[in-house]
Amino acid sequence: TAHEETLGFQTEVKQLLHLMIHSLYSNREIFLRELISNAADACDKLRYAALDNDALYEGDSELRIEIEHDQAAGTVTVRDNGIGMSRAEVIQNLGTIARSGTAEFLKQLSGEQQKDARLIGQFGVGFYSSFIVADEVTVRTRKAGTEHGDGVEWRSKGEGEFTVADIDRELHGTEIVLHLKKDAGEFADDYRLKSLVRKYSDHIEVPVRMPSVDVERNDEGEEIPGTEKIRWENVNEATALWVRPKSDVSDDDYKAFYKHVAHDFSDPLSWSHNKVEGKLEYTNLLYVPGRAPFDLYERDGSRGVKLYVQRVFIMDDAEQFLPIYLRFIKGVLDTRELSLNVSRELLQQDPKVEKIKSALTKRGLDMLKKLAKDKEAYQTFWNTFGSVLKEGPAEDFANREKIAALLRFSSTHTDSSTQDQSLSDYVERMQEGQKKIYYIVADSFNAAKSSPHLEIFRKKGIEVLLLSDRIDEWLMSHLTDFDGKSFIDVAKGELDLGDIEGEEEKKAQEETAKAKEELVKRVQDALGEEVQEVKVTHRLTDSPACVVLPEHEMGYQMRRIMEAAGQ
Ligand code: ADP
Ligand code: MG
Repeated sequence: TAHEETLGFQTEVKQLLHLMIHSLYSNREIFLRELISNAADACDKLRYAALDNDALYEGDSELRIEIEHDQAAGTVTVRDNGIGMSRAEVIQNLGTIARSGTAEFLKQLSGEQQKDARLIGQFGVGFYSSFIVADEVTVRTRKAGTEHGDGVEWRSKGEGEFTVADIDRELHGTEIVLHLKKDAGEFADDYRLKSLVRKYSDHIEVPVRMPSVDVERNDEGEEIPGTEKIRWENVNEATALWVRPKSDVSDDDYKAFYKHVAHDFSDPLSWSHNKVEGKLEYTNLLYVPGRAPFDLYERDGSRGVKLYVQRVFIMDDAEQFLPIYLRFIKGVLDTRELSLNVSRELLQQDPKVEKIKSALTKRGLDMLKKLAKDKEAYQTFWNTFGSVLKEGPAEDFANREKIAALLRFSSTHTDSSTQDQSLSDYVERMQEGQKKIYYIVADSFNAAKSSPHLEIFRKKGIEVLLLSDRIDEWLMSHLTDFDGKSFIDVAKGELDLGDIEGEEEKKAQEETAKAKEELVKRVQDALGEEVQEVKVTHRLTDSPACVVLPEHEMGYQMRRIMEAAGQ
């Protein structure tokens, strides 16, 4: 081997390797899923690149993944004839973690095995999971379309450094040889490997094949030496899952595919698989995850769908097809509406993209509506992603009624901090004569719940929504009404209880106000510039006084956000 050099892993990789080896111990088998998934990606990439340049196939356009093992040597090999890597790419891809948010991710690791295992699974650290089962890994690769002499060999024991060297390699694509640890010998086994391939890779479109050896036998039934022939056998189903008719796909298939697209260990909460023909042709398979990714609230967090054009993989994280408030949705979009050479830049200009986006948005919202029928599952969804969905009314005016119906709140009906009351629940419980939906926004649930503004409402048995998420004031400034009833902040402006109050009550209040004019004036003088106005109110039943904001004034939360932003 020539031009050999030894390089150190990036610090993050070292940290990750260490953590992974220790925390994923009880989930060791996922290494195979990760390696097959990379091999399938590499095949997808070659197919895409070859659209413009057939020569990249080097005469072998039958894309495939091969898995071999050698029990005696204790090795497992995963090979693909996909795109391959150049030397520079090997060093970059197998020596660093390029993904943004890595540092953030590492910070979240707790040292608790189970929790970390799930996080790592979500992060999709892929290739490095080889070192959970191997104490040495050899990668041989050559980029499709290059000279045979441009092959590269990468070797490492996963302990801080790796070695790269130039090699001669006839085949393009990548071969990964795992030298199994002593206690991982179980994976060098035909039956074990086959069942893992079926478990994790049935839905992958590229065939995964494994060899078996045929031997001729003599009349006595003995094997004739020298007649061994290798026969490759396809192990996985190898049809893109979203292309199959719904009736052919089991729940388990859908769940396994989710884990592949979302890099998640756990099951999704629900999914929506649709094949749409006619004016706009597309197939979508969208999922609601059961847990939040670590970068849900990061600006450059990964979001969007895996985009295919006529079953050719185009790109990951195509974020143009779903609004930001549905960024937790994962899945696949396959369409013939776009051209195969579409790029991120072109996506931004294509009017068809907007049309598909609005169709997928409806699908997403409908999927949530269906999920809402299962109270327990929906509560899991809401606790995980509710505050993201609350961004919806501001971002998507057209769908705000639909979004509003999906919102869940705490309210004085239960006085519980669990946000589980829908607006239709509220409307159903409205008092006779009540025309508005009342709410209060505070810094914390307890502050909202014990606010003096609620006294009159509690006394009259009128329900008030208790809002205390950071985003709630922003949400309420974009939600004007639901089911024809407008929203009223009970801490702002004149309190109008409409027809709930009788004429007599109103009269009594006016009289009280008159009687207390003198007191009001004295308080006003004492407070001076600090307040706009002092008034007698019937808001309170127990407390003597409270502060009220004018109706169109910015609320406390918004003020604080603006102050923090230096305004
Ligand atoms: P991810 O797949 O999420 O990008 P991985 O750690 O699994 O992360 O892989 C890192 C990178 O290494 C891949 O993005 C890809 O560029 C490269 N890579 C890994 N396996 C292969 C392969 N079999 N063929 C070509 N490139 C590969
Ligand atoms: Mg990967």
